[in-house]
Amino acid sequence: MEFSSRMRQKYARLAGDRRELYPHSLQFYLEPPTESISLVEFESFAIDRLRLLKIVENLGVSYLKNADSYKTKLENELRKLKFPYKALAEDDYEARRKDHISHFILRLAYCQSEDLRRWFLQQEMDLFRYRFTQLTESLMQKFLEHVNLSFEAISEDLKKELENELCASTPGLSLPKVKEQMFYKVGLADAVDLFRTRRVFIKDGFAYVPFKEIDVIVLNNFRTKLSKALALTARSLPSIQSDERLQPLLNHLSHSYVGPDYSVQKNTGKISLEQIDALSVKSFPLCMRQLHRALRDSHHLRHGGRMQYGLFLKGIGLTLEQALEFWKKEFIRGKVDADKFDKGYAYSIRHNYGKEGKRTDYTPYSCMKIIMSNPPSQGDYHGCPFRHSDPELLKQKLQSYKIPPSGITQILELVKGMHFQLACQKYFELTHDVDDIGFSLNHPNQYFTESQKLLNGGRELKKELSNSGNSQQKNNTQESMNSNSTPTSSNTTDDTELEGLEAYFTED
Ligand code: SF4
Repeated sequence: MEFSSRMRQKYARLAGDRRELYPHSLQFYLEPPTESISLVEFESFAIDRLRLLKIVENLGVSYLKNADSYKTKLENELRKLKFPYKALAEDDYEARRKDHISHFILRLAYCQSEDLRRWFLQQEMDLFRYRFTQLTESLMQKFLEHVNLSFEAISEDLKKELENELCASTPGLSLPKVKEQMFYKVGLADAVDLFRTRRVFIKDGFAYVPFKEIDVIVLNNFRTKLSKALALTARSLPSIQSDERLQPLLNHLSHSYVGPDYSVQKNTGKISLEQIDALSVKSFPLCMRQLHRALRDSHHLRHGGRMQYGLFLKGIGLTLEQALEFWKKEFIRGKVDADKFDKGYAYSIRHNYGKEGKRTDYTPYSCMKIIMSNPPSQGDYHGCPFRHSDPELLKQKLQSYKIPPSGITQILELVKGMHFQLACQKYFELTHDVDDIGFSLNHPNQYFTESQKLLNGGRELKKELSNSGNSQQKNNTQESMNSNSTPTSSNTTDDTELEGLEAYFTED
């Protein structure tokens, strides 16, 4: 589905102004929207929120969440994408409406699996935390009342009576600070996070929470509500799945990549087959480097690998003729003879280039698609190594690619936090000797393009490889060339979405 062009279309508003629905710049998203909206607006809102949540994820691992730089960058992005960015901004009805509707659309798309739910919840929590902490004290109070979370402030007399305990049990609060702060009496269930980390005074089944920690309570409440809501939404999936307009859209969103789809190959014909070995070391993301290595070693890739790698190679510029040659040369070095290749595999390559079947020009897979769908089984090499590899194996692989130990630790930390694309960005930085990748990685072909730009000083892909690059790349290139004396390979694919192609892949 082409989101980018549609986004430029004018929104078709189907409902009138409902300003009273959004008294605050932030929401708990308790009530789903009830107005009718056009599909154009539906798509556009959803894509913008997805962009926003990806930015939230990116900033969350690059900056301290309470740092000014984090707040400034997030505010800028919210402003750019036309979401509410300021607690007291007047006349931001459109932004608040967009915030409300887009949250519920992505909730539908991201309730579909445990992984998706976890990712969505985390980003929404971070976004909410930022917005809540931007509120003034009086706006916080108003908001809490609005969402029925107004906690009872303890009296000055009780505070005086408990001041020593409050001071001793609340890290960071001296006695004079205790006197200044308002304390709230909160049920233990709401204060679990503070209780668990020993940051609050407990008495008779209540936590005495200082105002400065109230965001933890609110966040906890928001998480519980959203988590339940996601589980409930997931249960209603069968009815959503029967809606033929919505289902493809939601599926697309949950695998979505917000950027060019790399279906138009600017570089078509600019790559020679002889370059692929070296390019795989210098400019391929880890997923494609792994597939290339496996293809070279076993002279075969199973269905999922041929799909993922074949479309990637198409995206970086291999022509149909080159693809046929690349895959054929490699396959006939294994167990497939030329005749079998022509009958069984060549069709699918032509299919991917839109020369067979429905004549659709298939696009390379985005990271989200690779990460979220069709996980590899034993004997498969497709998927995202940051998502699908055992951490110990990933570590060994990174060591063999000469990534420094500190870099490996950083990557593994990101993987542990389920930030797979950010782990890949870190891999890019480490293999290209740059401190900041300067873009948000969403697509393997984007990785390739950015790598080439960097290595070639911003110029288009060169026909011949430059010998420049950092020493690690040079070493790895040498290593690769030494272990791969065969000069060429080839490119094939078919697509799980392609009709009637499975028959051509019985020898998977
Ligand atoms: Fe490939 Fe994307 Fe995973 Fe990187 S994050 S290895 S580009 S799928």
